[in-house]
This record gives sequence, structure tokens and C-alpha cells, in this order.
Amino acid sequence: MTRSALVLGAGLGGLAAAQELRRLVGRGDRVVLIERAERHVFPPSLLWLMVGNRTLQAISRGYEGIARRGIELVRGEVTAIDPAAKTVRVGEQTLHGDALVIALGAEYVPRAIPGLAEAGLCLYTLEGATAIREALGRFEGGRVVVLTAAPQYKCPAAPYEAALLVESFLRERGLREKTGIDFYAAEPGPMMVAGPTVSAGVRAMIEDRSIGYHPEHQAKAVDAKARRIEFANGASAEFDLLLYVPPHRAPEAVRAAGLTNESGWVPVDRHTLETRFPGVYAIGDVTVIPLKMGRPLPKAGVFAHGEAEVVAHNIARGWTGKGEPKRFGGEGMCFIETGGGRAGMGSGNFYAEPVPEVRLRAPSLLWHGAKVLYEKYWLYSRF
Ligand SMILES: Cc1cc2nc3c(=O)[nH]c(=O)nc-3n(C[C@H](O)[C@H](O)[C@H](O)COP(=O)(O)OP(=O)(O)OC[C@H]3O[C@@H](n4cnc5c(N)ncnc54)[C@H](O)[C@@H]3O)c2cc1C
Repeated sequence: MTRSALVLGAGLGGLAAAQELRRLVGRGDRVVLIERAERHVFPPSLLWLMVGNRTLQAISRGYEGIARRGIELVRGEVTAIDPAAKTVRVGEQTLHGDALVIALGAEYVPRAIPGLAEAGLCLYTLEGATAIREALGRFEGGRVVVLTAAPQYKCPAAPYEAALLVESFLRERGLREKTGIDFYAAEPGPMMVAGPTVSAGVRAMIEDRSIGYHPEHQAKAVDAKARRIEFANGASAEFDLLLYVPPHRAPEAVRAAGLTNESGWVPVDRHTLETRFPGVYAIGDVTVIPLKMGRPLPKAGVFAHGEAEVVAHNIARGWTGKGEPKRFGGEGMCFIETGGGRAGMGSGNFYAEPVPEVRLRAPSLLWHGAKVLYEKYWLYSRF
């Protein structure tokens, strides 16, 4: 009997799930990977691209090679998911799977803050990072603002890394004296989910570089002409260059499928990643996994990848009878680029109770080197 696994989305989670499934299931079983994008871009490297340290070619790959590895690639937009029937609509086709792995990530909604998209440049997209590189190339000094436009967003370290990398870039070009840098955060502090010590450590990295830090500033609207942000607390801030993290939400097809809960994301079993529909799994940014400390598990590639391996193993085990069931344990780590070829590193167990047990290591050449190695490993081993 031929069985098929449908993996929706070929980002960090979906790619890892499809490749692990291909390795583990029988030759006669099908692994189908559905993706709308032309190329796979490794998201952590967008921050290096933004300051001119990477080209698009260096941080992206075409998907063609995937098919050579025995994975059936379906190109197109997932427009509907029926989790009860385990079917997926892609263009004119309706595909059926014996197992579904939903890895469609998060969608950005900058228009949730009026004026934001017109006034600023997005730190989280290829288009935005490319435009930031060009804007920084032209920049002659002034006011730079880094803004998180909602308190929850993927990779809680990334906007802080972005601020440090931009600061470093401007210092190296002799523009730092002529530039004020401020970070306006919707959240109460950096990386709150990792606990107060890590949060204070990251805040110190920012403030030690004379970047003004303003937590609990939820942007309400941005006036593109006046180059001014109005905040919900009545404050305002002016800028010459605005770099922002947009609000996120689950993709339309996922919301319409009735897979989400009141959080707007897909609830799953925290250890198996199964949704309330048997045989339908969700991994990565599209999920919500509440933690005892009151905040959800952060949306990060490291978790998407770990979850993908658990889900692939358990689907394959159900089909082949081989191995013992695996459980996702909440372990994760992240590098925090600080500029000048250095990075800090936070790692630990996010499922630990009552609070995650996460340790922050000081910036060094070693952690930066490890981040570069991980980038190379991802792009060369997967394509
Ligand atoms: C600037 C930046 C830096 C980051 N740095 C780090 C880091 O250092 N460490 C870390 O762990 N994480 C980092 N992250 C976060 C990490 O990239 C995400 O958490 C991770 O990519 C989530 O994986 P995913 O598979 O859930 O979603 P994604 O990787 O976003 O993949 C989703 C895929 O689904 C596709 N898709 C979406 N909708 C549809 C549809 N309707 N039809 C067909 N295809 C669709 C998309 O094109 C995409 O390929 C960073 C993110 C950014 C933006």
C-alpha cells in the first residue's frame, strides 16, 4: 500500500520534515512538499544581507534540487485545508494525504499599524532587508528607529541583533557620532520568555552601545510625511530611517480551516505537535504552545526544526513500525549577532517549569563562527 505525507510549506520546518520523512519512510511511500516561493531564503542571514555582508545568492537556494532527493515538489499557493478529510487545495488540484504536516509559518500584517509600511522598511522580508542595505548605503547621519510593532514576533532576538548590527555598521563608517539610535519595543523587555536574567543581559548589550531602549511602546500609527510614530501610551518618536518588525498572524488558509484557537495560532500537543485532528500535525511559527510562565514558546527556526524531526519520526514509525515514539522536549538555542564578528548565545530548555531554564553566553568570535557554520550547513546539506 502506498501512503503519502503532505508537507505544507518548505521553510525551515517543512524542509526539515520532508527530508526526514523521505529518509525514514519506505521507498514506495510518497513525500509531497508544497511551496509557493521560487527560492528558499535562510531567514537568519537576512540580517547580514541588510548590512552588506551577504548577497541574495549566498543566502538562498532554488527548490529544484529537492525533487532529485525523492521528494515530490508541488509549486503553488495552498488556498484551503480540510483537516478532517486531510485534503489540501493547491491551485486547481486537491491533494490527499495519510498524514499532513502544516508548516506554513507566519504571515506579516504591517497594515495593522496605519502608515507603517509607507514610512518604514521591514526587517523580516527579503525586500525589506535589501531596501535597508540600500538606505544604509545612502545614510549620512540622523535618527534611526528600530521598532517592534507588536509584542509577539518570530525570533525574539532578531530585532535586537538588527539594532546592534546597524550600530556597528554606522560606527565602522564613521557615522555613529552623527546618528541617534533608538529601539521602541511593544514588549516589556527583550526576550522575556527566556527569563529576567537573559532579558536584562540583552538589554545591557543594547544600552552599552548607546542605543536608547524604550519598552512597552505599542505603535498606534505612523505619519510617513512627518516621519513620526505615535504610540498608544501618548508618546511619539521622530525618525529619518525606520526599521520595523511587523505584526504577524497565521496564514489565511490555516485560519479559514478552523485550525486556530483564540490566540490566532494552531494549538498542538506540545510533545507530538499533533493538532486536534488525528494525523494532522502543525510545526513551527504557525503553532501556539503555551508555557507555564504565561508566554508561548517563541517562534524560532530552532524549534521548527526540532519539531519537524519529531513529527517525521513519529509518522514514519506509524507506517514502518520501526523505533520508539519521540517527544519534542522544548530545547532550543539562538545566537545574537552583536556586530564586529561577534555573537552571544542563549540556550536551554523552554519547557522547564515553572520558568524556562535559559543561559546567555557573552558575545565572542566563537558564537559568531558557530552561527556562520550553521548557515553553511543548512544551505549546503539541504540543497
Ligand atoms: C530576520 C530573521 C532572523 C531570524 N533569525 C533566527 C535565528 O537566528 N534563529 C532561529 O531559530 N530563528 C530565526 N528566525 C525565525 C525563523 O526564520 C522562523 O522561526 C522559521 O523560519 C519558522 O519555520 P516555519 O517552517 O514555521 O516557517 P517558515 O520558515 O516561514 O516557512 C513557511 C513556508 O511556507 C510557505 N507558505 C506560506 N504560506 C503558503 C501558502 N499559502 N501556500 C504555499 N506556501 C506557503 C512560505 O513561502 C515559506 O516557505 C529568524 C527570522 C527572521 C525573519
